[in-house]
Amino acid sequence: MLNSIKKIALALSASALVLACTPTEKIDKEPMKVIDHHTYAQPDEALITHLDWEANVDFNTKTITANATFTISKTENAQEIILDTNGLSIKGVKDEKGNDLAFKIGNEKPFLGSPLIIKLNNDTKTISINYKTGVDAEALQWLSPQQTADEKSPFLFTQSQAILARSWVPVQDSPGIRFTYNAHVTVPKGMLALMSATNPTEVSNNGVYDFKMDKPIPAYLLALTVGDITYQRLSERTGVYAEPSVIKAAAYEFEDMEQMVEAAEKLYGPYQWGVYDLIVLPPSFPFGGMENPMLTFATPTILAGDRSLVSLVAHELAHSWSGNLVTNATWDDFWLNEGFTVYFEQRIMEAVYGRDYSEMLALLSLQDLKKEVASILAGKKPEDTQLKLNLEGRNPDDGMTAIAYDKGYYFLRLIEERVGRDKFDAFLKDYFTSNAFHSMTTDEFITQINSKLFEKNGLPIDESLYADWIFGEGLPANCPQPQSDRFENVEKVVEQWVNGTPMEELFTPEDIMTKKWSSHEWLHFLRSLPNDLSLAQMQKLDEVFQFTYSRNSEILAAWMVHVIKHQYEPGYQNLENFLVHTGRRKFLSPLYAEMAKTDEGLKMAKEIYTKARPNYHYVAISTMDKMLNWQE
Ligand SMILES: [Zn+2]
Repeated sequence: MLNSIKKIALALSASALVLACTPTEKIDKEPMKVIDHHTYAQPDEALITHLDWEANVDFNTKTITANATFTISKTENAQEIILDTNGLSIKGVKDEKGNDLAFKIGNEKPFLGSPLIIKLNNDTKTISINYKTGVDAEALQWLSPQQTADEKSPFLFTQSQAILARSWVPVQDSPGIRFTYNAHVTVPKGMLALMSATNPTEVSNNGVYDFKMDKPIPAYLLALTVGDITYQRLSERTGVYAEPSVIKAAAYEFEDMEQMVEAAEKLYGPYQWGVYDLIVLPPSFPFGGMENPMLTFATPTILAGDRSLVSLVAHELAHSWSGNLVTNATWDDFWLNEGFTVYFEQRIMEAVYGRDYSEMLALLSLQDLKKEVASILAGKKPEDTQLKLNLEGRNPDDGMTAIAYDKGYYFLRLIEERVGRDKFDAFLKDYFTSNAFHSMTTDEFITQINSKLFEKNGLPIDESLYADWIFGEGLPANCPQPQSDRFENVEKVVEQWVNGTPMEELFTPEDIMTKKWSSHEWLHFLRSLPNDLSLAQMQKLDEVFQFTYSRNSEILAAWMVHVIKHQYEPGYQNLENFLVHTGRRKFLSPLYAEMAKTDEGLKMAKEIYTKARPNYHYVAISTMDKMLNWQE
């Protein structure tokens, strides 16, 4: 039964109060009832609606000193407002008249940090918190010049998702609570500062920058980066930021960005955030990309030189609708952000590069999904293979697996295949428009799809869809199966080679220059190789294709799995280089996991990790520490 899974709501909805603050919207439905286990906030009592942030970024002490002034909305009787903090030192809190407000910092809990409880007067309208970040603030990564591409200037970037915003701003850190913000930020002269907001394109004389985000966003989309950064415009509303030595390659790689925005708009309605820019960060950025509004943060590992890894841009762009416009109400509903985004990403890729291209991506996603399902089912929490999660008492990061992304995608693709693309697209377009700037729970999604897709079109509602996919474990048998002639060809080539046909007969020299195959085909080739390759076969592959020296990070990472598995020593040095210089968790996890399978491998993993760990962001460190049983 679906109802048995519903949570009893304690709080009047946060989204209802946000609705009250956006006068153009009218409340036309029951307020959504939500409990977020990952915030101390009590939004039914008092809620933040706007932030004015005045900050000073100090690279010497690796801290940010700031004043966070929130406009608040509260019930008549509210005595206090509660914000989330983690490691912040709070110096004082004042109201709009400059009077001190009493405050108290509650006990710290794992992952959640501490509540900041501020006493309110009857007429308090704003609270202004003076504070400093801790030296180990989890969202912040301070890089030395040597850790950047140009090695000239230090660099700072933030990663707030899922609940790390509270380590650099005291805030109601729940995806169901939205606010607008302005910021006034001082950084060392000569450096550029950027946020998830309207951004400068040139370095200022005095190191001072002003930012404005006039659309309500949740705290996990707060973002800041500071460094020796330059800008290149790509179209009227798209552009790219990067360190000076990287900007040319970045502008080349992302040339199709405007085309992607247009394809996305054609599918699901206008892009609502004004400009769409992307910054290529230094290699320690832990994710492929982060969909910070107006400014996607991206890893340099997608700079392949041939635009072959730009599906990541389609993904982050798609989040401008799924996630940033319609937001998972809690981290238990994370699949609503990511499953929709992978579906949308595939549709953008199909529109721009064709179906045979996007089907290869779909198949790679299915491979990832099957692997993830098998590995989670083998562990202690098989229920983590459900789309709807229960992360109470856990780090929400535990829910950031391929389930939310790829099982979510296949669930939506199954619905598309059942009802037909036209009807599904009409539903999605309406879903993004009518729920824009609101949060969404899994239950509310089911209500909406039942009425606005199935009932509206006179189609039967199939409850088993939800029982199997959303609330059921594993991968349901009715999972759609993509078809790709290009991948079938790759499989044939692997088979022939394994059966003794020489490589030279299977590949012409031109094929080998990767002109015939896309990165996806190479990736599929590497993933399809048998597990018992001989040393001679490894040598042959490396001699012909130079995989050990590939500049394509996806191909390199897939090859390195074989390097470890087959103890192919000529690859070891580059394996180490890659792991020391790249902080993208997607690559780190499978490589360290492969090493950890044997005693000797684990020893090697720990040796490499000792050198690499200082270069990783907190989110990568927390995963790898656990995997390698690391004690500092
Ligand atoms: Zn995403």
